[in-house]
Amino acid sequence: MQLPVRDKATREVIGEVPVATRDEVARAVDAARTAFDSWSRVPVVERARALFRYADALERHKEELAISVSRENGKTLADARGEVRRGIEAVEFACSMPSLMMGDALPDVASGIDSVSMRYPLGVCAGITPFNFPAMIPLWMFPIAIAAGNTFVLKPSPQTPLTSQALLSIAHASGFPEGILAVVHGEAPTAEALIDHPDVAAISFVGSSNAARAVQARAVGAHKRVQALGGAKNYLIVMPDAVTQSTCDALIASAFGGAGQRCLAGSVVIAVGSSGDRLAPLLVEAAGSLRLGRGVDDGVGMGPVVSDAAIERIGGYVERARAAGAQLLLDGGTVPSGGTFVAPVIFDRVDPSSELARDEIFGPVLAIVRAPSLDDAIAMANASRYGNASSIFTNDGGNARAFASRIAVGMVGINVGVAAPMAFFPFGGVKDSIFGDLRCHGKDAVAFYTQQRVVISRWPQDSSSF
Ligand code: NAD
Repeated sequence: MQLPVRDKATREVIGEVPVATRDEVARAVDAARTAFDSWSRVPVVERARALFRYADALERHKEELAISVSRENGKTLADARGEVRRGIEAVEFACSMPSLMMGDALPDVASGIDSVSMRYPLGVCAGITPFNFPAMIPLWMFPIAIAAGNTFVLKPSPQTPLTSQALLSIAHASGFPEGILAVVHGEAPTAEALIDHPDVAAISFVGSSNAARAVQARAVGAHKRVQALGGAKNYLIVMPDAVTQSTCDALIASAFGGAGQRCLAGSVVIAVGSSGDRLAPLLVEAAGSLRLGRGVDDGVGMGPVVSDAAIERIGGYVERARAAGAQLLLDGGTVPSGGTFVAPVIFDRVDPSSELARDEIFGPVLAIVRAPSLDDAIAMANASRYGNASSIFTNDGGNARAFASRIAVGMVGINVGVAAPMAFFPFGGVKDSIFGDLRCHGKDAVAFYTQQRVVISRWPQDSSSF
């Protein structure tokens, strides 16, 4: 069976991928298992060289990758270029594997006894990725796993699988040995076949919280290592001393970039004290002037959402909020024909306990909530079931510091609308934004894709005491 892939701005079919059966998944894992035997014995410096060549090849293909992302996902070309850049940075991070994999050593832990800890690869690792970053999220996973000596089978989102195919072709063209990277396609059953395969040692998952919870439970049930990053609801707190055009621009980019379909999208602004009355008109003006269109076209400020199902889900939230009396400041309006477009929506004075303020809507809908103080704002944000990212906008270092120490999220922004850690820091949240302990990229990923072994040795110089 073939899975058609559409340009989200036109609904035109731009490619198709085959859905893998359980047997085909097993064959991909078997090949990766065979390749692991030799790849894991390739010296780490040579594995790093393969990653250097891959980074260089990606650099040469970055524009075609960005166009692929923009077409199959819908995001603007500028956004897609940024995503590819972040992905290449993860490959560059993987190039440091000889240093990253180094262990610890301590001589004379007891009389005549030394100890060293060393990191070894796990075997075949699998990745299951979402639609919203078709290049960057796969690149968070397989380059680091492969540099550490593992082999990898990737199952990308069925909504955006073409960029993964391109990443695979570039890997082969850059000299990746046969079998160390494979891509299989399909929906949840394909992912489950990967999780269930006895030769898959570790699962990296990024997607919605319900799927992340199910993936983690399934993998743990099979006694496998798992990191499952889930959904998000990110709160952006604005203090009265920070109502400026640059704050407004950062909020708009956070809420409406990628049509609100980022796990770091700020979808609730908590306006503290007097800031709301001054901020709301600025936000309405800026969001209302975003030009909707095809992501690859010049001058487009926001592309389509991913599907008709997404339009229906987002529209449902807007209708229910409207019916419940939330104050609608900006109402979508007309959208370009052809694609799956939703225009920006802004509600003000939203009830902090309403679904608009609590659920992950994953679309271009911004809720403004009013809070009397920073303490109230932090309490509101911390009541969320999610804990991915949160930002404060303020000119006061004391408030910024208090926020950073008390906000219950994994990624904290201070006067930054999208608090995205770069590849050498870990990426991930807390609470229902992650299932599992270790995050993506940074040193967490090195720990996730390797197994530690401690060697304790006793070498007496005098062989009579051996
Ligand atoms: P999704 O959960 O629908 O799908 C993600 C992947 O999981 C896809 O490959 C899908 O085929 C697969 N899948 C779905 N259900 C599954 C199941 N029960 N078992 C195994 N695999 C399953 O997510 P999506 O709509 O593609 O992406 C959007 C979601 O991803 C949002 O919730 C967003 O917040 C989240 N996300 C989180 C992060 C993060 O870093 N925490 C980053 C990006 C996206």
